[in-house]
Amino acid sequence: MANAKGYAAESAESGLAPISFERRQPRPDDVSIEIDYCGVCHTDIHFVQNDWGVTEFPVVPGHEIIGRVTAVGPEVKNHSVGDTVGVGCMVDSCRTCPACESGLEQYCSEGMTATYNGVDRHDESITYGGYSDRIVVSERFVVKVPEKLDPAAAAPILCAGITTYSPLRHYGIKPGDKVGVIGMGGLGHMGVKFARALGAEVTLFTRSESKVAEARKQGADHVIISTDRAQMKAARETFDFMLDTVPVQHDLNPYLSALKFDGTHILVGQLDPIEPPLQAGALVGRRRVLGGSLIGGMPETQEVLDFCAEHDITCDIEMLDIRNINEAYERMKQGDVKYRFVIDMKTLRAV
Ligand code: ZN
Ligand code: ZN
Repeated sequence: MANAKGYAAESAESGLAPISFERRQPRPDDVSIEIDYCGVCHTDIHFVQNDWGVTEFPVVPGHEIIGRVTAVGPEVKNHSVGDTVGVGCMVDSCRTCPACESGLEQYCSEGMTATYNGVDRHDESITYGGYSDRIVVSERFVVKVPEKLDPAAAAPILCAGITTYSPLRHYGIKPGDKVGVIGMGGLGHMGVKFARALGAEVTLFTRSESKVAEARKQGADHVIISTDRAQMKAARETFDFMLDTVPVQHDLNPYLSALKFDGTHILVGQLDPIEPPLQAGALVGRRRVLGGSLIGGMPETQEVLDFCAEHDITCDIEMLDIRNINEAYERMKQGDVKYRFVIDMKTLRAV
């Protein structure tokens, strides 16, 4: 019955290796997609290593998927055979709760169905992601890739891109706003590009002196070394908005102090408890807001792709042969990639 191939981890220690498996037969609202490219996200590593204790093995990761439509079900209205399309972090949701009705399916009250390691709402099978030659997805969760975009470099927009774009749009970043972007990885470098394109004056916060030149190349107007107390002190009360892409625990207090009165700090990377404790007075005393944001809904995901085409924004990528995926994970753990690996799925066809 196997009708697809891909790369999967069989256990938390196994690393990734080739696998054959079955994709479902298309339902009436399904789009069948031959995958050309898939970005490699840090979340993939967490699932492969079972860092969060929720991985169902075997796991086929990948939620930054770009491909071409090979077939559509009779109810499909928006996609046609031959279209270049994308699939991001989710492939289904309840579709009727207030969040879904507002096109914010990622906040579905019943929980979105993740592109991999999710549970299919129809048959309760486990979903398999984009490190694969093909995928079948309901059309609501498939977006169009504008012709102007390089399809490989567009792949990471479906996770890294939308994750940073959504809060910048939601909080109405506009020309003249002073925006800080914390962290200069896959998410951070996209955040800098979007904030710039929205007209903001952008400051990149990084721990590492070595990233200063690179941050300016990406479009940051200023760079602050976050471990330099004098620089952080000089930044007090200057920012309207802080986009925090750091994926691990870090001290938020110096950043809260860097916000103006009424400023907003949004977490998009960290899921762990906040340590050290927050100085609530820094929030209360200046009516500052601390919040979080998860990827983006489907209409917003289409919007960010169109925005990228309009503003000539793509992710900086390094193309990857899928046979080198385990080495790529090791390099990512060292922070040794600018800024996203994207698997060229032609290399899977050679396996
Ligand atoms: Zn991701
Ligand atoms: Zn819902």
